[in-house]
Parts: sequence; C-alpha cells; structure tokens
Amino acid sequence: MNKKRIYLFGNGKAEGKADMKNLLGGKGANLAEMNLVGVPVPPGFTITTEVCTEYNQFGKEKIMELLKSEITGAIQNIENIIGSKFGDKENPCLVSVRSGARVSMPGMMDTVLNLGLNDDAVEGLAKKSNNPRFAWDSYRRFVQMYGDVVLGMKPASKEETDPFEKIIDEIKEAKNIVNDTELATEDLQELVKRFKKAIKEVTGSDFPEDPWTQLWGAICAVFDSWNTERAIYYRQLNRIPGDWGTAVNVQAMVYGNMGNNSATGVAFTRDAATGEDMFNGEYLINAQGEDVVAGIRTPQQITLIGSRRWAELAKVSEEDRAAKYPSLEETMPPIYKELCVIETKLENHYKDMQDLEFTIQDGKLWLLQTRSGKRTGVAMVKMAIDMLEEGLIDEKTALLRVEPNKLDELLHPVFDAAAIKKALVVAKGLPASPGAATGQLVFFADEAEKWAKDKKKVVLARIETSPEDLRGMNVSEGILTARGGMTSHAAVVARGMGKCCVSGAGSIRINYKERTLTSDGQVFHEGDWISLNGSTGEVYKGKVDTKNPELSGDFGKLMSLCDKYTVMKVRTNADTPNDSKVARGFGAQGIGLCRTEHMFFEGDRIKAVREMILAKDETGRRVALKKLLPIQRSDFEGIFDAMQGLPVTVRLLDPPLHEFVPHDEKGQQEMAEEMHISLNEVKARVESLAEFNPMLGHRGCRLGNTYPEITEMQTRAIIEAALNLKAKGIQAIPEIMIPLIGTVEEFKMQEDIIRQTAQKVFDERNEIIDFLVGTMIEIPRAALTAAEVAKHAEFFSFGTNDLTQMTFGYSRDDAGKFLPIYLAKGILKEDPFQVLDQVGVGQLVEMGTKNGRSSRPNLKVGICGEHGGEPKSVMFCHRVGMNYVSCSPYRVPIARLAAAQAAII
Ligand code: ADP
Ligand code: MG
Ligand code: MG
Repeated sequence: MNKKRIYLFGNGKAEGKADMKNLLGGKGANLAEMNLVGVPVPPGFTITTEVCTEYNQFGKEKIMELLKSEITGAIQNIENIIGSKFGDKENPCLVSVRSGARVSMPGMMDTVLNLGLNDDAVEGLAKKSNNPRFAWDSYRRFVQMYGDVVLGMKPASKEETDPFEKIIDEIKEAKNIVNDTELATEDLQELVKRFKKAIKEVTGSDFPEDPWTQLWGAICAVFDSWNTERAIYYRQLNRIPGDWGTAVNVQAMVYGNMGNNSATGVAFTRDAATGEDMFNGEYLINAQGEDVVAGIRTPQQITLIGSRRWAELAKVSEEDRAAKYPSLEETMPPIYKELCVIETKLENHYKDMQDLEFTIQDGKLWLLQTRSGKRTGVAMVKMAIDMLEEGLIDEKTALLRVEPNKLDELLHPVFDAAAIKKALVVAKGLPASPGAATGQLVFFADEAEKWAKDKKKVVLARIETSPEDLRGMNVSEGILTARGGMTSHAAVVARGMGKCCVSGAGSIRINYKERTLTSDGQVFHEGDWISLNGSTGEVYKGKVDTKNPELSGDFGKLMSLCDKYTVMKVRTNADTPNDSKVARGFGAQGIGLCRTEHMFFEGDRIKAVREMILAKDETGRRVALKKLLPIQRSDFEGIFDAMQGLPVTVRLLDPPLHEFVPHDEKGQQEMAEEMHISLNEVKARVESLAEFNPMLGHRGCRLGNTYPEITEMQTRAIIEAALNLKAKGIQAIPEIMIPLIGTVEEFKMQEDIIRQTAQKVFDERNEIIDFLVGTMIEIPRAALTAAEVAKHAEFFSFGTNDLTQMTFGYSRDDAGKFLPIYLAKGILKEDPFQVLDQVGVGQLVEMGTKNGRSSRPNLKVGICGEHGGEPKSVMFCHRVGMNYVSCSPYRVPIARLAAAQAAII
C-alpha cells in the first residue's frame, strides 16, 4: 500500500494538474495548475479523494498511520518555501485546511484558517509582523473557526446563535463598538480567553494547543463532512455520487488582515448573471477569508465601472462612494493591474469564465482559488456564443458548454412590462440572479419547505443565507437577503439553482422573532405577497403579473448551432393548437404524442364522452360518438393546421373509461337527465366500470378492440380533418398510433378498422391523403415481440412511462409511498420515471428498436414518455438510433441541445 496519497504544489511547481480533478478535487487540481502557469499561489499540498474513501473504510487511526510520513514531508516542503516552521514559537508557519470535492459543494466543511496558532505562536507572530493586533485577530478567528467547524460548536438550529458570535457581541456592547475592525488587541485577547472557556464548557475538553493535533483534527473533520446531512442532500439534488469523496488542501496562510495595505476578495472574469464580458468582483481591505461573502461589512467593487454601477443601485452618491467604498482600481492601482493580467491569463488558459479568490498581503497579490464560475442560464448561453465568436472556443465546445437543463431558466416567465410600471417598489437590492418571482413571504428555510409542500408559492427572506438554507431556497420562487453582495452565499447558490435572487437590500430590516420585514416604514408579515425582480434588484409590494420571455438572439444562435450537428429530430407532446404553436416556436419538428382524451374535458364535451361510456350497448355508444365526431374533427383541424407540413402522431383513446365518469351525485344526476335514465341506473353503470387495477385494466387498444366503433369514430375524425385542410391547401401528415398493445393480433385488429374506415372516407370524399399506422411500445411483451409487430406497424413510439411502470412493476400512482425512500437509501440512484433506466428498461428500448428494424428496415422510431425531454435519456435515444424524441413544449429547446450534444460526443 505505498501509493501516492499527497500531491505538493508551490513555487511554480506542482505534482498535480487541472485534469486531475477526480483525484485532487477541483480546488486542489486548479491550485496545482495555477502554479504551473505562473500565477502566484501560496505553497501547500492536496490529500487525494481516494484517502477520503480509505478513511470511511478504515477509520481515523489507520489513516493517520498511512499518511504520517508523507504529511511530515509535505509540511516541510511548505516550511522550506516560505522560511518558517510549523509549530515554532518564534516564526510559526500557519496553514489553512480546505475541503475540495470534484465539483464545488456548498454542503461541505468550512475552511479553517490560521491553523498552527497557540498561546506561544501568537506572540511570535505578533513580534515577527510587528503587528500584535493582526496576530491576535488571526488567533481569535482560528479558535472560533476551529471550535465551530472541527469541535462541532456551530449551532444546530436556527433558534440558537453561534456561541462565539454571542461573546463577540457582548464585548462589542460593553465597549460600545459597531465593527469588528474596531476591536483592540486587548479585546481580541479577551475574546480568545472567553472562546476557549466556552469550548471547555461545551465539549468538556481544552482547546488543542498542539499544532499537529490541530492539523489532524481539521483533516479528519473535512473527511467527516463528506457524510453530513447537508452534503448528502446537496449530492442528491445535484446527482453527485456518494463514493467520489473529497480531497483536503493544506496551504500556507497569506494574510489579508495585516492592515490597510492588505485585503481579500473574489472576482469573476465575466458577469455571472448576465454573461457580459466584464471583469467584476468584490473586496474588503484588512479582512480575511470569507469576510467578503459573509455580509458582515459592505464589500467594495474591484473595478471603477462596477463600483459606479453598484453605487447607483445602492443609491450612494459618487462622493460617498469614492470616500467610503472606493474600488480596488482606485485604492491599489498596481495590484489591480496585476489582477487584470492574471484574470485574462486564467480565462484564456481555461477557455472559460473563471471565479477567483485572491488575497493581498501587505501589497503582494496571491491567488487562492480558480474554477469555472457558476452562472445563470442566460449567462451560460451568452458566454458560449460570445466565446465562440471571439474564437476562444470552437462550435462543438460552445454547444457542450451549455447545460441543457439550464435552458429552462431562459424560458421562465418575466414580469409583464405594464404590470411592473404600476408596481410599488418597496426596496432595492442587488440584481443577484435574474428572473421574476412572486410569492408569500417566509423567513425560515424549513418553513419555506412546509409552505411549498402545501402548494404555496413562497419568497424566502433572510438577513443572509447559509448552506443550511439550501432545501428551503430550492423550493422558493425567489430569495431576498438584507445583507451580502453579488458573491454572497445567497447570490451564488441562487444563480446555480437558476432561482431569482435579490441580495443585500440594505433598507430592509428582518425580525425573525416577530416574523416581519420592514422597509421604509412599511411592515410586511409572514404570508404577505411580495415580488422580486432578480434582473434589477427591485422588490415590489404584492403580486406582480408575469409573462413568457422573449428569446434573445444568442438563444437563436445556439439553437441553429444545434441543428447543424444534430441527427435526431425533436417533436413535442401537445394536445391543443396552442401548445402546438408554442412548441413550434421552440423548434419542434412535429407532434410525437397527441393524447385525444385530453380534449374531452373542455367545456360541455365531457357530457357526450360520459354518454358514450355510460351507454348500455353499441347503439347507445354510436349515438354519443356521433356527437363527439365533429368536436374531435375540429380539434384535429386546429392541431394539424398549427403543425402544417409536419407529422402529427395521434394516439387513439387510451385511459380507463372510469376516469371520465362522474363520481359525484350532482354529475350523476346531470347524466341521468341527459340520457333519460334513472339516477340509480347511472350509479349502477359507474359502479360496473370500477376496476381493481385500472392501469392494467380495460384501457388502451383493449377499448378499441372491444368497442371498435370508438376507433372508427376517431379515425374518421382524423382523416376528415386532414382532408378538410387539404381542400384549403394545408398539408396534414397524420400518424395514427395504437396504444398499449402486447400482441401483434391486438395491433392487426385495430389496424384493420383504421384502414377500412379511412378507405370509406376516401371513397366518400373521392380524395386521399397519406397516413401511417403505428403503435406505442409500452408493454414489455410488445418490445419482446417487436420483430413480429413491426411487420405490420409502420412506426414505433416508446411510451416509456408505462414501459417503466410495467418493467419495474411500480405503479406510477402509488410509487410516491416508497420511491423517495428508495432514493434516499440509494436502492435507486435516480427516479426511473424521470431519468430513463438505461440498464433495464433501456434494454427493452434498444432491443425493440433493433428487432423492429430487422423486419422493417425503415421503421420510424421515437419516444414519447417524460424521458423525451430529459437530457441523459435523450442522449440514450440518440445512441440506440431513434429518429426522434418527443417532449413537452417547454422542454423542446432542452431536448434539441441534448440531441446535438449526443451527436457530438
Ligand atoms: P470554499 O470552498 O468555501 O470557497 P475555501 O477553502 O476556498 O472555501 O476558503 C474559504 C476562504 O478562505 C476563501 O476566501 C479563501 O480565499 C480563504 N483562504 C483559504 N486558504 C487561505 C490561505 N491559505 N490564505 C489566505 N486565505 C485563505
Ligand atoms: Mg473558495
Ligand atoms: Mg401509456
């Protein structure tokens, strides 16, 4: 077992590099890479993700034994480079311990800074830096972070406050101080004393003075944090496998809190909200680590132009801005220039927008992190197209840069322009994540979850958010915070989720106890309606109407680029002319599934449907069907017209009849009158239709085969509609689809009825049109006998909802009882009704396609289940050689992009 577990970096050298993310985590791989490209990075080392797995297997003792000699060497390497010593009294080497998974995960352990300090080392640091205040500030931060993160002092619930913050507040109050920066050295010394006392009281043990004990504690805490509830939830949300593990980075400290010539900040090489190619970010003078994003002080902008934009939004005058909140460009021009050079270098190197962390120690710039930045859907599209046009990336890369699911955000509603003019602005914050949100105010993340469960739309308002709030943020329409900048937790997470967010609305006051939000004297209570504009930062009173967005030029360019590479077509599932038009606007190339029964519920027509179902014999049914014929015909005319020139797959009646009959007495009475029969007779018939297991009962082609007159009527409606349009010069291309067949005989019997009826209509009209007759493959037996079925069927459409249901034996209607538990326990990796189960159900799809084509080489094959709009499933459909996927209208662009990506990779 002498494999390499630790990778060193520092002084322009590194054992790792950017493409080693799986082993070193994203942070570690990029720290190595930055060294290699000549960016100044404090030296350090990365413990691999494999060690995390070993840790979970063998435990702490064993891991310490395995790592011991490598760690000693790695610490020595840091000491040699910076010329100080870990654990030394006079000249102590301090480090940070940072977690770092393959992808960044907000649920993971917080970083511990200034590790290595103790009562002796703090004196050494004070002397060496000639700055006691800095030394004690570093120490009190360390004890606090170590207590919170490693010793578990962080409060578990929202009611409790951080014990350390409480102590800080006490001292501030006693001294009549507002800002942390005003704390004097003696205050900081007092803080350390009280912090340690608190640690002893709560944990029963003394704060560890020995730097090595501190280091091992922090390393193991990182590994432990991989399996915290927060981290697990985040992994579930983002489909990150639990066996990846996290790396640990240990790195020499650089100090942004050494005085007014020091600072710390974060920056983006382009605008993560809009995609605009503009360097931007925030920094704070004399601060350390997370101070910028923690929202304790108002962060300042890096660029002058950004600073002026911020001042305008924050209603700060230019005079005040320049005096109190100057940009880095103004305060430290040489450092600013150096940062600009590095930002360009890193973006060109990675060929993607970078999210940077930096620290300035006494006039020297250090980079502490770079990664491809999270961005909104809009920014993702804009950056891909911009970078393509700039020649930074090629077409295929541009296509692969956009996550298909993220396009969803571009299709989200925006505020109606007229409504927004009338809306009353009650506060203004930063436009942290674009979009429009309207909902009822809640102040706690768990409450947001509760309300959302009751189908309420909520806006979550917090002073600031933290990783504990993830679940609540995820179910909210939008997020509003009183504190924090564009890089605050709320802003970054919201952009990642594609949620509307307004952050740092300074004028609002949130009172958690009273559950109120106050702004400019107006008081809002929990449950009050409020609206957020994530693109302008405005907060409105009440509900504001939203409308569908107009798609920008970049979106169009991206879609045309898709068409250039894609092989599969994308159709839509649509049951109305309006849905068809929307989908066509998004580029749908036909309808893959038109469910005829969905029209039955509109207006008065349900009565005719009910009459057909409740009829006691064929004669009775035919009377009702006659009423339905013109209704269906005109529906089909509308849909064919909207889709003219493109194929429309119409599925014959599919659901159990029992779904349509009236179950309430009022409805039954109505039918009794309509049909001139007694109420009891209606009741008896409704009862006779009840089934033990309707989804496996009298439905699908079993209806048409037992009541052929239904198939006759529907065929007639389809063919007549197509002929009517043909007379007007409009081309309709119907594909008639028989649902739920399990044997080829079921298909043949339906096909005969369809072809005979069509011929009858052609004879009557003395005119013909082309049409296809095919089937849905949704019963495993149909997939197994596909070769036989395809001798008769002209096309297959995989109905993967039912196919999944029947292959797993999970009732879709009852799966809610156990699926969530299965997912939580890891019995299933994903919900098979959302993401196609390629291993099992996929086999039936692949085999059905292959065998079908063995007897009919030009068999058209598509998919029309929910999976047709899910990117991974779309890619699977491409691989098995489908001609098209079909999905709901708003997912058409997503499927188009996924189909193009499938064709590229
Ligand atoms: P996260 O993954 O939450 O971003 P990081 O490990 O990047 O956590 O660190 C949190 C903060 O501490 C960041 O602002 C980072 O720049 C800062 N930091 C981490 N290591 C050092 C260090 N060695 N010197 C100075 N600041 C550091
Ligand atoms: Mg970081
Ligand atoms: Mg079905």
